[in-house]
Amino acid sequence: MSALFHCAFHRRQNIKKKFGGGLGNTPYSCLWMFNLLGKCSNARAVTWLREKYEPLMRPSHRAYLDSVEDHEQFPAVRCEKALSEEGVHVCMYGRTSSSGVESMNRANNEIRQRTAVDILNAALVLIKKESERFDRNKNDAHKVSVWATPPPLTHKGMNLMDEIFRKCDPSMYRIHLTEQETFHSFVVSKLSASFWEYILRIPKTAEEEHHGSRFGTCTCGFPTKEGLPCDHMVAIVKSGQIPDLSKFDIMPYWYSRMKWQLQFPVNGVCKSDITLASIKLNHRPDKFIKYCPSWVAGKKKGRPKTEKRKLGIVDHVRKGVSKKRRRNYDRTLPSAIFDSIDDDNAHGLNWDDIQLEENKKYEMDGYQGPV
Ligand SMILES: [Zn+2]
Repeated sequence: MSALFHCAFHRRQNIKKKFGGGLGNTPYSCLWMFNLLGKCSNARAVTWLREKYEPLMRPSHRAYLDSVEDHEQFPAVRCEKALSEEGVHVCMYGRTSSSGVESMNRANNEIRQRTAVDILNAALVLIKKESERFDRNKNDAHKVSVWATPPPLTHKGMNLMDEIFRKCDPSMYRIHLTEQETFHSFVVSKLSASFWEYILRIPKTAEEEHHGSRFGTCTCGFPTKEGLPCDHMVAIVKSGQIPDLSKFDIMPYWYSRMKWQLQFPVNGVCKSDITLASIKLNHRPDKFIKYCPSWVAGKKKGRPKTEKRKLGIVDHVRKGVSKKRRRNYDRTLPSAIFDSIDDDNAHGLNWDDIQLEENKKYEMDGYQGPV
């Protein structure tokens, strides 16, 4: 389910621009408070910290934090709001910033530059790149080794599991188990803070589409915010409260190798060689579809305009007469030519006489003329 959520990275940049704050280590500053509330896993913790520290903050810093709704800037509140108001389980998968989207933008930079010049070329590059990514992921997901069986989780899943199991100490928790029909119900609290109680649910059997995962829910909010088992779940596994529950089973299904393999099926092919030569070579043409270039069609007037008046017989006759008249008009020379010739000298004047007169001039000067 999509909803507006402000990127934490850009929100921090804006806070720094307005109030400074450096690394966010100054207590009661806007950035310090934002970082603190962003780490909370449930709305109750956000409210509690707000009540505790807001009176100590500057009014302008407090007002800036309040200018955006809590469910639009803190992942814990976002998850709880979706569940309480719409009954939808929203998981933030530990994401708070737009860096994932932006890195994809950067990866496709070559394509984005081409869109300004030739959209078809950009589309071809996009398909080619997608094909390369698909092949790379497919090979990784289905990689088999002769030395060892591949782990049930992805590389990232294995690393995350090792990390959360290493830092959890089950002796810190008080755990109370109640058996239900389809799930195990637990009430877990920390020995040092027993007034904070959390209710956990772990399914008795894994659902088919979850590939063996028995990742449950916890009211602490960490599983929905991070998409990972919380310390309470890890404590239950480590303390052996459920005998058949392994550390691989408690991890969510989106870190399982089976899910990864389904996303990139071994038989799946993402074709990228879209050239005319390859199309001609690998595909059979549809004989019923043929391209008709514009120059083979006769010159036609095209579709007549609906508003244009249709000519009748009388109109055609009138048009023909006017055309004829225009063709047979009397040619007349412009009157300016006649005006320049003197009427008295115009008679008996010819070219030979003019030439003789000219030659006489040259003889008088003792010069051989042109004739
Ligand atoms: Zn928990």
